[in-house]
Amino acid sequence: MTPPPRPLDLAALERPALETALEERGIERFRGRQIFQWIHKRGVTEIEKMTDLPRALRARLAHEFAITTPAIESRERSSDGTEKFLLKLEDGRLIESVFIPDTPSMTFCVSTQVGCAMACAFCLTGKMGLVRNLTAGEIAGQVRALVAALDMRNTRFNIVLMGMGEPLHNYDETMKALRMLADEHGLAVSPRRVTLSTVGILPALERLAAEPVMPNLAISLHAPSDELRGELVPINKKYGVDDIIAACKRFPLKRRSRITFEYVLLAGVNDSPADARRLAKMLSGVKSKVNLIPLNAAAGIPFERPSDEAINRFAQILADHHLTVSVRKSRGRDIRAACGQLIVEGQKKSAAQRLALQM
Ligand code: SAH
Repeated sequence: MTPPPRPLDLAALERPALETALEERGIERFRGRQIFQWIHKRGVTEIEKMTDLPRALRARLAHEFAITTPAIESRERSSDGTEKFLLKLEDGRLIESVFIPDTPSMTFCVSTQVGCAMACAFCLTGKMGLVRNLTAGEIAGQVRALVAALDMRNTRFNIVLMGMGEPLHNYDETMKALRMLADEHGLAVSPRRVTLSTVGILPALERLAAEPVMPNLAISLHAPSDELRGELVPINKKYGVDDIIAACKRFPLKRRSRITFEYVLLAGVNDSPADARRLAKMLSGVKSKVNLIPLNAAAGIPFERPSDEAINRFAQILADHHLTVSVRKSRGRDIRAACGQLIVEGQKKSAAQRLALQM
């Protein structure tokens, strides 16, 4: 027996698609805008409470459609104010989203996949493997859930796609989520306040370059040569450093905006002065800024964080080569909410992951 079809989830639709879905069922199009506003702008997901809809319509909609929001399973607050949310999806899968206050702005770090297929050597999420892609509703839904939980409906915030998953490996749903978030009838988060972080999946990067709605771009580079990057970021064997840098040079940037290059510093692996000089050379001619991320060490991750001296020396060499450099402050490390530490126990555990979870 096949299970009955799931009702259409109104929270997973962009506004035009929501309007069309209603129209196809003989309901006036403008009702779509009203419902979109209730869900995304006001955070009301019970159709019964959408008081500007006629009572009979509410009853009908509640019967025919669903509105789903990732449910907050648990939340944990770091001594530095960072808060990690474990969210449960409709199918029971779990993901993590992180709220980082005062960076200096408020930032939500959201996931685009359950797990990740990229298997970067220093990242715990990578050890989960890919469980599944998130839908646009689930990506945007994380922001809705956090806005509600933190009472931030009237607060400006940024979004970084730096949680679990590789956004360009889930291209269509990620871009759809960004359009839903940007919608003036919803949370109206301008794409300028969104940063998409990627290992650089080349065909998707080329597609992104042609998007009308464009987030800021961050490239997880981590090494100044194919040889080393191939060890750390396996997809580099398919899309190498030179091609990624060339694509970045062609990327249509707005005036004064730049591409961020993330570089996780691993002691004795990619943190030497020669690496810094090679990186500086590689980025000459790119409108770039470099964000150094000292490794957030974890059990099961076979690398160490460099000393502060090594970090400063590396940063200084880049600065001497006229690059803009920042060193990312680790946030929420005490609650395992820092970069690369998001992992969810109990779903499709590999042996390596079990090992990683022992401490
Ligand atoms: N898949 C995307 C976004 C997720 S990770 C990407 O790779 O860009 C966000 C950033 O955290 C990436 O730059 C990633 O390389 C970095 N990161 C992963 N594991 C880390 C760790 N253990 N310590 C510090 N940064 C880490």
